[in-house]
Amino acid sequence: MALPNKPRGEIAAVVDPEVVEHSCDVLIVGGGMAACGTAFEIKKWADDSLKIILCDKAAMERSGAVAQGLSAINTYIGENAIEDYVKMVRNDLMGVVREDLIYDLGRHVDESVKLFEEWGLPVWKKDADGNTLDGAKPAPTLREGGAPVRTGKWQIMINGESYKCIVAEPAKKALGEENCMERTFIVKMLLDKNLDNTIAGAVGFSTRENKVHVFTCKAALVACGGAVNIFRPRSTGEGKGRAWYPVWNAGSTYTMCAQVGATLTMMENRFTPARFKDGYGPVGAWFLLFKAKVQNGLGEFYAGSDAAKEELQKFMPYGASAVTPTCLRNHLMVNEFKEGRGPIYMATDVALNAFLEEKRAAGMNEKDIKKYWKHLESEAWEDFLDMSVGQAGLWAGANIEPEKTGSEIMPTEPYMLGSHSGCCGIWTSGPDEDWVPTVDGTRAHQYKWGYNRMTTVDGLFTAGDGVGASGHKFSSGSHAEGRIVAKQLVKYCRDKSHTPEIAQSAQELADEIYAPVKLYHEHVGATTHADVNPNYVKPSGLMMRLMKATDEYGGGVATYYMTSGKLLGICMDLLELMREDSEKMAAGDLHELLRCWENYHRIWCVEAHIRHIQFREESRYPGFYYRSDFPKVDDENWKCFVNSTYDPKAGEWKCEKVDCVNIIETDPWL
Ligand code: AMP
Repeated sequence: MALPNKPRGEIAAVVDPEVVEHSCDVLIVGGGMAACGTAFEIKKWADDSLKIILCDKAAMERSGAVAQGLSAINTYIGENAIEDYVKMVRNDLMGVVREDLIYDLGRHVDESVKLFEEWGLPVWKKDADGNTLDGAKPAPTLREGGAPVRTGKWQIMINGESYKCIVAEPAKKALGEENCMERTFIVKMLLDKNLDNTIAGAVGFSTRENKVHVFTCKAALVACGGAVNIFRPRSTGEGKGRAWYPVWNAGSTYTMCAQVGATLTMMENRFTPARFKDGYGPVGAWFLLFKAKVQNGLGEFYAGSDAAKEELQKFMPYGASAVTPTCLRNHLMVNEFKEGRGPIYMATDVALNAFLEEKRAAGMNEKDIKKYWKHLESEAWEDFLDMSVGQAGLWAGANIEPEKTGSEIMPTEPYMLGSHSGCCGIWTSGPDEDWVPTVDGTRAHQYKWGYNRMTTVDGLFTAGDGVGASGHKFSSGSHAEGRIVAKQLVKYCRDKSHTPEIAQSAQELADEIYAPVKLYHEHVGATTHADVNPNYVKPSGLMMRLMKATDEYGGGVATYYMTSGKLLGICMDLLELMREDSEKMAAGDLHELLRCWENYHRIWCVEAHIRHIQFREESRYPGFYYRSDFPKVDDENWKCFVNSTYDPKAGEWKCEKVDCVNIIETDPWL
């Protein structure tokens, strides 16, 4: 159940928190779209003898990537072939993806979208003439055959400010409010004391009460999103912390699973989205719905030029594709900046006026044009108001009239995720079906080992941003993937008869979780300012250190995303020192304790990222990052996955190449 909002100020942390032990069959860690999908679905398969608990570090109505709302659902298959969805994802992610996972997602995703609509999410519809109906006008639902407003081939428009509330409500209702522990931040997954490579529980703490929670479970889903604030953001000063993806995604999914030995995949991949400058507003609707183009500072529409086509050919050895991969669209933009032809504008003025001209040419009178303009204008503002209200504020505050002037867009700082146009994450089993390739080797090489979306650790599952090599799920796909996992979690619990047991005592775990609080209380008297102390570092300080290291050496905005073997080596050294110093993090209140553990997760997650970039000696994602020493896409040597596994017993990492098997025909290539 949700604990109340904080009183004024932060809640002081005490050195001896209460320790609460819980025993359950399934532990759902996370409360975003994927976790809500699991929570909603699982009770359909589990009978009341299975105890299921969900922990969300925030409140489910407004947690995860969809917290702020969305203006579009970017994966709705509808009239398209699922095979084409697989090809689109493969194309956008430069050829190296798990087609089994993508296909599997494609065949389940629409059901989630139909459910959303039934739960109350307004989906834009077209009338019989193909015109967009205003939201208030009645129209058949998707299930009844209503035609959604397609922005692109895969995307549909929604009135989605309350999207997450709408999805969270049935999830909570299905699971029972009493089984949803909100404001509970899970810090570590725990392995079984008796069984090798098997999950047995987790430990975390409340961000509202001085309580440590220790769980034993037979199976767990870890779905805590991707990683944000791992690179220095472009936002500064009072805007610092403003980011494109949700700021609370601290790489917890990747770190917590990696630490217990789950194999990671494609952690070299990152997403560096082009967004409206400063407000981080979405660009998809502008590109797709409003058909806007990007214009450089010289007024040139550079993306369609011959020079651009030639540039793209360098990285697309198999020829042009219908849609330029997202990283390469960024690459063209980065080139414009580097050549001094910035700033880059989304030509909103050109796009909106083109619509009016089109209507005039079709004979529309000026009175109706005026009405049509109002409709267009409200759609444009709605896009931001639904999912990035800060961008709408910026437009208003800067007197921007989108029909009169373009707005700057810019590639942001990098993020790590597996659900949007990125594909880093955890290596999981695909469906246990004949069409999924059988591959020899350890689980780190195989495509299926019995339970769909189970990681290489028994009983540990993931979904959404957690599942690697399978991007472009977005909100709907993450929810669908959560539903897929639900059934598998129940099956796993039914199949296994062991009683999970964790090695450490609850008190030992609590001491570890609250170590930053103890350190703070021991030394806070040494100085007059609690943030400056020779014996500890506050989490905000360590975070700045992390961002400086990744920005300068790991291919952040400081170097136009360029790095090299040499720079990566320096970054790794800095991370090692940071990991050492992270033991000196101190927390005076529960918010700082949260920040300490988030930092810890971020450092680990970034280390995996840098390790993978080091290992992959090519530049597979130009525009997202470059290696100056290996500046090309090198299909001959690197059209493969890079998988890494941390051995929790030996404390060692291993990186390896893993075969990428195509299932859907590859002619044309992508
Ligand atoms: P965004 O608003 O950037 O999060 O993107 C929403 C959707 O639009 C995603 O499916 C993107 O892949 C797609 N998208 C964004 N920009 C473009 C573009 N220039 N061309 C094609 N698809 C795009």
